[in-house]
Amino acid sequence: MQINILSESEAATLRELIAASERIVICGHKSPDGDAIGSSLGWAAYLRSLGKSPDIVMPDAMPDFLHWLPNSEKVVRHDKRTAEVSRMLQQADLLFCLDFNDPGRVEDMQADVVASPARKVMIDHHLDPNFPDTALAVSHPEMSSTSEMVFRVVWQLGGFEGLDRQWAAPIYCGMMTDTGGFTYNSTNPEIYFIISQLLTKGIDKDKIYRNVFNNYSSWAVRLRGYMMCQKLNVFEDLHASYYAMTRTELRDFHFIRGDAEGLVNEPLRIKGLKLSISLREDTERDNLVLVSVRSVDDFPANEVAARFFNGGGHVNAAGGKLHCSISEAEQVARKAIRAFADRLKA
Ligand code: 5GP
Ligand code: MN
Repeated sequence: MQINILSESEAATLRELIAASERIVICGHKSPDGDAIGSSLGWAAYLRSLGKSPDIVMPDAMPDFLHWLPNSEKVVRHDKRTAEVSRMLQQADLLFCLDFNDPGRVEDMQADVVASPARKVMIDHHLDPNFPDTALAVSHPEMSSTSEMVFRVVWQLGGFEGLDRQWAAPIYCGMMTDTGGFTYNSTNPEIYFIISQLLTKGIDKDKIYRNVFNNYSSWAVRLRGYMMCQKLNVFEDLHASYYAMTRTELRDFHFIRGDAEGLVNEPLRIKGLKLSISLREDTERDNLVLVSVRSVDDFPANEVAARFFNGGGHVNAAGGKLHCSISEAEQVARKAIRAFADRLKA
């Protein structure tokens, strides 16, 4: 079993960078998910075990279903405490960018990240990295998650023995969320070796599952049922579907961040369905539609997201956004499905 992912020289560089740095900042991407938060908290726990005191910053809020994670309350939000985060980035001597591979993915925080004099280390599993000026860029698109990469790096650097549940829980959480509870992107046997090692730290994996996936309000469950019952458009012959959530509907169902999490996967339970598109009108900003795209097997969700929704992502899980009304976005979704008709029918 090959757990190590760094070359000898990369490992040496990383060790030197950490040893030489006093003001370390860790950041994840906009709308941080379980993997961005999990990998950041896990990496922070490792750095603390080395005697460092890293700060963790994110562009905006994490979903409520991650608030149980130890130390999640220490994460500083750029949208809420902009000046403080700018100062941290300005004063940092080492900046870890986790779970994104393009400075554009931190959106409003991008200028501060780019301007930071810190040496930058990217650790990420998305395709096609485009991150200028890194002291070290560790890119492994074949990995399930950045959290898995953090496990491997910590293992390789010899940190595993000295770490406890506070490190293992966020790492497990990030691996679990990025694989839909180990239902996709999770066939590599090494993942299960890693899980077995994390379990030795005393994490309760069943509880972590419940904390994350069985944490809806009754409103959220009703919204999800309503979308599937009333709003799902299925193109049976094309093995594709889309649905659109309007701002009015979101208000009617008392929508809060995270309520729609994973809903885009639900249509994939239809036998033979290959492509599911979710459109959600932003609740605050006008003419902004948030798009999630999911697919199965080798049908490329990321190509759909890149060509039609100004986004990208992984083969089976991608996203993007449109600057238009929700009804215009529905037209784009229909156009996207038609454009891929040949490959969807096959
Ligand atoms: P989600 O549907 O959960 O928001 O996003 C699924 C995946 O799509 C994310 O893990 C991320 O890799 C990718 N993704 C989402 N939005 C964007 C985007 O605007 N640009 C790119 N390049 N990838 C995105
Ligand atoms: Mn990820």
